[in-house]
Amino acid sequence: MTALRAVIGVTVLCWTTYATAQSTAGAKGRQPAVGAQVPRAELVLLGTGMPRPNPEASGPATAVVLGDRLFLFDAGPGVMRQLAAAGLSIKGATAVFVTHLHSDHTLGLPDLIFTSWVMGRQKPMAVYGPHGLRAMTDHITAAWREDITIRTDGLEREVVGGWKVKVREIAAGVVYDSGGVRVTAIPVDHGDWKEAYGYRIDAGGRSFVISGDTRSSAALRAAARGADVLVHEAYPELRLAPEDRPGGENWPAYMKAFHTSDVEVGALAAAAGVKQVVLHHLVRMKGTDEELIAGVRRGGFKGPVVVGKDLQRF
Ligand SMILES: [Zn+2]
Ligand SMILES: [Zn+2]
Repeated sequence: MTALRAVIGVTVLCWTTYATAQSTAGAKGRQPAVGAQVPRAELVLLGTGMPRPNPEASGPATAVVLGDRLFLFDAGPGVMRQLAAAGLSIKGATAVFVTHLHSDHTLGLPDLIFTSWVMGRQKPMAVYGPHGLRAMTDHITAAWREDITIRTDGLEREVVGGWKVKVREIAAGVVYDSGGVRVTAIPVDHGDWKEAYGYRIDAGGRSFVISGDTRSSAALRAAARGADVLVHEAYPELRLAPEDRPGGENWPAYMKAFHTSDVEVGALAAAAGVKQVVLHHLVRMKGTDEELIAGVRRGGFKGPVVVGKDLQRF
């Protein structure tokens, strides 16, 4: 009886989660017929934070899940703990996509590589990203060589080579297309970085666009056309001002070269006709959620806008 009640409880919880996600997304007509086994692609905000350590907002990382396949976008600090918190696999992703090599987006990569192995990963994990990713990964695996030796040859007897990574340094365009999931890399402008990408994910009849770090990008606007969910970085335009610190006079110029204002996100989302905007990776400058949403409205976007929180699902 207790077991039965537990099963019923889980069923109700799953359905509630599904229904909540549907209503949050503002999506209509996608609910499968009763009894139909249609996997629904879902986006999970694992980390919405910035470089400043914040227990409420882990480092940048976003998951897209379709059935038992897990696709990860960036590996900021805390990514493994957030995967566990979200109830997703801690044994490695189907594929990982890195937007750019800034440390706040990649500091979780060693954790992702080695902890997934210790938790049972047996095969090389595919990691896609800009040039320089291979050197970074080679250095990471070299740095933990002692650990690899001990865990492989010692009494832990981990799977030989289960820590390995298959790096693909990419260019713009479709970088992954398998089993109904297509990932397209979008070249974006992130200040002085020679190579930075946003990603569009088409999966299970839904479409997600993740901006990565970028100033307002025409390429991203074109690629985001009609997307169900646009996950975009932002700062509140009205708060941007020189800061009272050494070099603080360059702050507005830095922000305009590297990042996108709330108003620009709104204009981009309206022009692209996306169905919903989710803001994350926010340089708040003390701006509130309400100010950020108002900024997106000033940009002209009239659809649903959410200031993303860790572990929210869309
Ligand atoms: Zn960043
Ligand atoms: Zn960056």
